[in-house]
Amino acid sequence: MSSNTHFAIAIDGPAASGKSTLARKLAERLGLVMVNSGAMYRAVTWKALKENIDPSDSAAVVALLNRIEIECGHDGLTSTCTIDGVDPGDALRSETVNANVSMISAIPEVRDRLVALQRSYLDHTSVIMEGRDIGSVVFPDTPYKIYVDADEAVRAARRAKMGEVDSVAQRDAADSKRTTAPLIVANGAVILDNSHHTIESGVDAAIEILKQQGLSHL
Ligand code: C5P
Repeated sequence: MSSNTHFAIAIDGPAASGKSTLARKLAERLGLVMVNSGAMYRAVTWKALKENIDPSDSAAVVALLNRIEIECGHDGLTSTCTIDGVDPGDALRSETVNANVSMISAIPEVRDRLVALQRSYLDHTSVIMEGRDIGSVVFPDTPYKIYVDADEAVRAARRAKMGEVDSVAQRDAADSKRTTAPLIVANGAVILDNSHHTIESGVDAAIEILKQQGLSHL
């Protein structure tokens, strides 16, 4: 937590667990800014691909990192991220970005730069931030941590719906096995099993957890 009065709610979990929808709806319910940290990793990946940089060439990715400007903020309750002044928009979710983002996000220098930007949100506002390492690395001291999971069968069904343009299982494996900031259940996080929740009941369950964790803004 920062020394000011702003606070962070950390929502982590694998892809296809429903965590993004949950975080977005929770943010709407609580009137908090929702920061999609995955969009930042996707934006750097998009830029690297645009510049024809091989995502497996970490030295080239770091060189790129050192010459680009990354600006993160928010528009209303939604986080924004531009690279050299450009918002990649829908391109963030393209097949090529899906296929390469885990390689880029495993590079420690990329993580250092983006984690600093993620932390700087608290200079201006309280946030709900969703990702893979928010409770473990970005805001390890926040008492408000939820790890969203879902049964393998439910996640597989969601994956199938998403189609072949995103090999979610491969991304999850890479994100969980990487050396730097792997996807884990952070210390103090409560696991929310999202297998059988509707969106609304999932938000209710999250709010109950946050109350137990002492969040008084509810
Ligand atoms: O959340 P989303 O699926 O959009 O994230 C895309 C990718 O960004 C993840 O598969 C992971 O490689 C990376 N990521 C990360 N740490 C975060 C958020 C996302 O490494 N906090």
